[in-house]
Amino acid sequence: NLNKDFQVKSKTKLFSKPSYIRVLNNVSFELMEGETLSIVGESGCGKTTLGRCIVRGMNASSGEVLYHTEGGEQVNFLGLQGKEFKKYRKDIQMIFQDPYSSLSPRMSVYDIISEPLIANFKLSKAEVDEKVTEIAQKTGLNVSYLKRYPHAFSGGQRQRIAIARALVSKPRLIVCDEAVSALDVSIKAQIINLLKDLQQQLQITYIFISHDLSIVQNISDRVAVMHLGKIVELAPVDSLFDHPKHPYTEALLSAVPEPDPHLKKDRIILEGEVPNPANPPSGCHFHPRCAYKTDKCMQQEPELQLVGDHHYAACHYANEFTLRGVNHESQDK
Ligand code: SF4
Repeated sequence: NLNKDFQVKSKTKLFSKPSYIRVLNNVSFELMEGETLSIVGESGCGKTTLGRCIVRGMNASSGEVLYHTEGGEQVNFLGLQGKEFKKYRKDIQMIFQDPYSSLSPRMSVYDIISEPLIANFKLSKAEVDEKVTEIAQKTGLNVSYLKRYPHAFSGGQRQRIAIARALVSKPRLIVCDEAVSALDVSIKAQIINLLKDLQQQLQITYIFISHDLSIVQNISDRVAVMHLGKIVELAPVDSLFDHPKHPYTEALLSAVPEPDPHLKKDRIILEGEVPNPANPPSGCHFHPRCAYKTDKCMQQEPELQLVGDHHYAACHYANEFTLRGVNHESQDK
């Protein structure tokens, strides 16, 4: 039940009460150890805010992140303070979108990667050296370049440095926020393969925030679709791509480019503007743009409910119509 409200200042009414926009609206999901859960949705749907609230890069307005520690305890990660917070802080890390601004230009690569070790562990210089060298090798960085500064590296190499920094303290969960969006296509593939290899070697769990559905289909075990601060569909990746149950997911999938020119795919263009989150539509928040809406949709907000095998959707009619997936049989040559 994670919620996040942003305060909006009025430019015209000097002494009016502040108003709020609900950017995360009662978001709940479970995350399994070792899986990759992708979060998708259009800009402004709340996916980055969700990632930041989970790692405490931003304070949630209310709700909990229940973390099952390696010792078998369950703690509310958002409520931890002082030593308790420090104890588990290293377990949850984040990789940011832009490798050009997420690394300090004043720190050498060695200092960037070793910083989490020095902050979280009492280690000798030799031990820090050993761990930095080990993670640099795992992430494909040239160890002899560690004394250089980020400006001497390409975008792909910088993202490897960011990954090494996130991994060096041996986290259990990494939130990757558009981690490959700023990279060239060939470099993207290298970084995706690196993330997958590291996941297998180190049993890491990923939350993969992205707007790129082709990559999401390749990397995910499960996918959550967000719309206006809410999860509207959550399902195993094949189930979601082949048999979407929410009309918003259907529209998103229709925008995925089809590399084979012989396969015909109809693009679904959503009518109208993205609704204003400060004044969301009544009932189902997607109804102004939904081709399937009824009177019920305008009055009653649908709950996220089980509609198939581990497949959840927030639509009154999720099981009553057949929506088009990317790999739908009708695309046969
Ligand atoms: Fe469309 Fe109604 Fe389903 Fe909302 S509940 S997605 S408006 S059919």
